[in-house]
Amino acid sequence: MIAETDLSRSPAIGVVIASVIARQPSSHHAWDLNEELLVSQGVCDMKNAICPCGSARYTTVFSGTYRRMGDDSYDFEVAECCVCGLRRTMPPPSDVVYKSGQAHSSEREVGAAPWSAPILDAIKTRVPGGRLLDVGCNVGDLVALALEAGFDAQGIDLDPRAIAAGRQAGRPVQVGSLDSQSGTFDAVVMNHVLEHVVDLPRLLSSLQRALGETGLAFIYVPNYTGLLPRIMGDSWIGWLPMEHVWQFSPASFRRSVETLSSLRVVELATNGVIEPPSQGVKGVLKRAVAVLSTATGQGDEIAAVLATPLAGSA
Ligand SMILES: [Zn+2]
Repeated sequence: MIAETDLSRSPAIGVVIASVIARQPSSHHAWDLNEELLVSQGVCDMKNAICPCGSARYTTVFSGTYRRMGDDSYDFEVAECCVCGLRRTMPPPSDVVYKSGQAHSSEREVGAAPWSAPILDAIKTRVPGGRLLDVGCNVGDLVALALEAGFDAQGIDLDPRAIAAGRQAGRPVQVGSLDSQSGTFDAVVMNHVLEHVVDLPRLLSSLQRALGETGLAFIYVPNYTGLLPRIMGDSWIGWLPMEHVWQFSPASFRRSVETLSSLRVVELATNGVIEPPSQGVKGVLKRAVAVLSTATGQGDEIAAVLATPLAGSA
């Protein structure tokens, strides 16, 4: 279990967030009053972005320069919603890059992505077989592995270049979004997808539909509360501020999923896996921090399993 330490950042915000967690149906007016209070105290500003909770009031918690894109650098801020605590990247990223095949995060190399096997292992502990959908499958490495393991697996991605490479390799992948999928699945995977999608409520609603009554979702997103991001600051690879709309903590991830949809988070852990290996002393230190952070529940990736309200509990 992860301690929800970011709830206590400010007593006033803690009270507001507690009211969100309570989810009282008639609490919208109370939220507004609390927002006004926070604005009058100079804690929060209006920003030109609406949080999924309905608020446009944010407090800037972090600013930096991202230099993980070769020669380019990118100035960004992280702003926290004053009502629900969900953090987002400023300026808000556009999602045009995916459909045009220009996404920085897209690999497009057919092979065996190293994260596919651990993800499939995690799925197999809960779902022995059946229909599997990988949303944001890129070239379909996980799909290929799942097929070998006996799943009826398929993948979708918005990136036409990645899908073309996957299909060239004979994999059952296609350009598409979760909205356009028919039927239901025993397992749906979204490996580093949620943080890219602007319309989070719509995505979660599509996910719930795709899970039918008993399907499970296996979700992976970066965790800014991990040990590595706290050590590395704006150098942490997981910010990806030109593409990541949302920046999650374990607490804000759980709160967002469970307030924006009827889905339940039945398992939540962290892994120390996002940072790629480095050479020399830096590489040794990174590996040590990754092992330490995983062992102490402070990994830089959140790994969660989501279930529908109708499914049996974990
Ligand atoms: Zn919010």
